[in-house]
Amino acid sequence: MSDYEANWYIELTEEEQLILQTAKEFGENEIAPRVAEIDASNEYPWDLAKRMGELGFYHLMLPEKLGGGGHGPVIKWLIEEEWAKISPAMAFALAPAIGEAYYLVGLAPKLVDKYLEEALDGTAKFTFTGTDPAGSFNHTEAPVFGRRDGDDWILNGTRLFGTYAGIAKYHFASGMGDDGSWHQWYVDVETPGVKVEPFERKLGLAGTANAVVSYESVRVPGDQVCPIPPGTEADRRGNASGYIGACCCAVGGAQGVLAKTIDYLKQRTTHRVPLADMSVIADRLAGFAIEVEAAQCFLHNTLKGFQTGYGGKPHTSMVKPYCTDMFARVSRGCMELWGGIGVNEEVGVARYVRDALTMLAADRPTTGHYQQVAQSVLGLGVKYTLSD
Ligand SMILES: Cc1cc2nc3c(=O)[nH]c(=O)nc-3n(C[C@H](O)[C@H](O)[C@H](O)COP(=O)(O)OP(=O)(O)OC[C@H]3O[C@@H](n4cnc5c(N)ncnc54)[C@H](O)[C@@H]3O)c2cc1C
Repeated sequence: MSDYEANWYIELTEEEQLILQTAKEFGENEIAPRVAEIDASNEYPWDLAKRMGELGFYHLMLPEKLGGGGHGPVIKWLIEEEWAKISPAMAFALAPAIGEAYYLVGLAPKLVDKYLEEALDGTAKFTFTGTDPAGSFNHTEAPVFGRRDGDDWILNGTRLFGTYAGIAKYHFASGMGDDGSWHQWYVDVETPGVKVEPFERKLGLAGTANAVVSYESVRVPGDQVCPIPPGTEADRRGNASGYIGACCCAVGGAQGVLAKTIDYLKQRTTHRVPLADMSVIADRLAGFAIEVEAAQCFLHNTLKGFQTGYGGKPHTSMVKPYCTDMFARVSRGCMELWGGIGVNEEVGVARYVRDALTMLAADRPTTGHYQQVAQSVLGLGVKYTLSD
């Protein structure tokens, strides 16, 4: 790594600093050596997930009364940022799992008995499956996904782009009910009618086990559903969690690719002068450093909102396009400064660019966030029903 290291703006307890230090060492010693191979194979790294279980990462957000650490999401997001310096894809794949047991306990009490132990040792994963092939923005036009049948629900439909859906043991499947409301159903993957299609191969974020899921007459007990009316606090917090995670991957990823690039440019010379010392190049690097720093300030200020109960609103929608666009610009600029070798996959810079571009689409693309900001902050734009 180079000397470049951005500052923290969030006050952490000694325990949190220790957790972050453990995460940093785990990233450098155990994730880093695996990154290139996972990127090529697109396989979810089960061995790393199990190691995370051994190191206690899955206990962090579990409530204290259940033997967990009782931490809020901020520590998880900071770990995500830390790992993203090494690999945005692996941060995207592994860090959300820290909340696995927490989400299970908080949202799906029925599945707790069956899966909590595995969720804590890193062998059970969940997936959110909510993207209908008809589009993810036009909720009100989405075909009916769940129909009432006595006390139960019957699900029919397809869900695209489910991160971890290829390996998940339980699904939080969302869609339109025949009562005209949006719901989230908790589905055990072993329920008859759940069909997980082959993995999707995307531009970047390899190893995140993305898959298409079809639900064919899947029966879900009536107590395994949670209505999530758009615009409610539950909806907003659920969405925000994904947006902020993507921002952490973006800011960490930008720090990682910039540090790697500065290291390289200190060694590569022209007329016996390191490229990093040529003012035309040093100025560009300085510009990137400023962009990363600004995005990190914005992101950490938003995280602070979650620590103080403010909830980050309305920054959650502003910060996602800001950070992911920044990452796309910085990673592309860095790749350019590597010259021809930058497009060689073995060097590992192209991987950051691919991850950055893929992240632009994940957790709602930029236009959707602009739409949200125009509406909820400026009071402008076409009204639609999704929450911020
Ligand atoms: C890496 C990755 C991981 C993902 N993980 C998951 C997951 O775990 N679970 C899940 O359910 N989904 C997941 N998704 C899906 C993702 O949330 C959607 O792809 C995204 O929300 C866009 O929806 P869409 O593809 O249907 O685009 P569309 O809805 O077809 O939109 C197409 C384009 O038009 C723009 N647009 C459409 N309507 C509007 C509007 N009203 N306002 C402004 N702009 C608009 C969009 O911004 C977009 O750029 C993932 C996607 C990716 C790439």
